[in-house]
Amino acid sequence: MLRKWTFRAVIAYLLIGIAVYVYLFYLAGSTVPDHLKGTSVDPATFLNSREIMLSEEYSKIRNLLYFISTPYEWLFYFLILIFGISKGFERWAESTSRLHIIQSAIYLFLLSVISFVVTFPLSYISYRFSKAYNISTQTFSLWMKDEVIDFWVNFIEMFIIVTVLYWLMKRFKRRWWVPAWLLSIPFMIFMMFIQPVVIDPLYNDFYPLKNKDLETKILALAEKANIPAEHVYEVNMSEKTNALNAYVTGIGSNARIVLWDTTLEQLNEKEILFIMAHEMGHYVEKHIYFGIAGYIILTGIGLWITAGVMNRLVRKKGTELKVTAVSSLSSLPLFLLITSVLLFAASPITNWVSRYEEMRADRYGMEMTNDKKAAVQTFQDLTKSGLSQVNPPFLVKIFRYGHPTMLERIRMVEDFKKK
Ligand SMILES: [Zn+2]
Repeated sequence: MLRKWTFRAVIAYLLIGIAVYVYLFYLAGSTVPDHLKGTSVDPATFLNSREIMLSEEYSKIRNLLYFISTPYEWLFYFLILIFGISKGFERWAESTSRLHIIQSAIYLFLLSVISFVVTFPLSYISYRFSKAYNISTQTFSLWMKDEVIDFWVNFIEMFIIVTVLYWLMKRFKRRWWVPAWLLSIPFMIFMMFIQPVVIDPLYNDFYPLKNKDLETKILALAEKANIPAEHVYEVNMSEKTNALNAYVTGIGSNARIVLWDTTLEQLNEKEILFIMAHEMGHYVEKHIYFGIAGYIILTGIGLWITAGVMNRLVRKKGTELKVTAVSSLSSLPLFLLITSVLLFAASPITNWVSRYEEMRADRYGMEMTNDKKAAVQTFQDLTKSGLSQVNPPFLVKIFRYGHPTMLERIRMVEDFKKK
């Protein structure tokens, strides 16, 4: 039985890998449609042939890595269950202490370590690769430092979640997902509140904009959008990457707009102002709050499905999965496996919503700046600095793109008419 399941799981994984490879490298096209050749969306008009070739290669390999990493994680959770490794960790944790809280800390630590070790090769390949294409500028030790911080941040977050979750599972039996959902709401809001002030600074330095001349212009724009001045920050990213970015984060008094210093260094003033106006669009249209609402709904549905599937699987296949009860810690990989599959399955929807919001933010940016040239150039520069595809394959777009494709963004700007 064990051998048969392992064999099937590994074969399924390999088949997924081959299918993705064939799709990305042979079937899917990413060229610009004929009628748009030679226009501002055509990479041939703003990249040299070497950059075009690199961006194609880089995007293909990155997409491949993404699509093989997710099922790799599923395979890992599955094998760790059927080989009884999770069960072994649980026994170990139980033999050390009678206290639930200590048992969950020990179990989770063991699971986190093995999961870190098993996923490390893929993370490392991804890092080396990004470095080879000159996107990442991080030294190995700096990169490793981030990995270690990641490990501990995840561990602490998971420790809180798992301890409470398994306590609820014991206490509420089959209906555990209801209190888990209700508690996830204040927890998530709390995490979003502390993210910019507690978690993000563990990785990078944040400070008010250094370029005072630019700051004045940005603040003038912020005033036009009714955004209080203390919400604009710069982050030191140039020691890690050449890519460009800006984003809106946090809620309440911790809400802020953050610009990577790479963006400030590589783009001209008009482009930066367009990007700022875009970010202000997210802020003004309160996308973070819609995000929270969406998250609450998805978490509810997700936990309900997870509970249903888990209860059923443990009842019917508990022996094979080496899980005696849903509420025993050894079922955690099963919980993580189901939620990961659900998140992946939901990603076309969440990405679609995100792309809609990004489109709105782009429109807002145009309303504020009304500078087509700067906007088009921004998107072209973003393509160049991130070596991204202007017109990615369909599956890549629906599973990976939280922003409209560059082709769509540039087209929108070109067709834009101010109200
Ligand atoms: Zn945006």
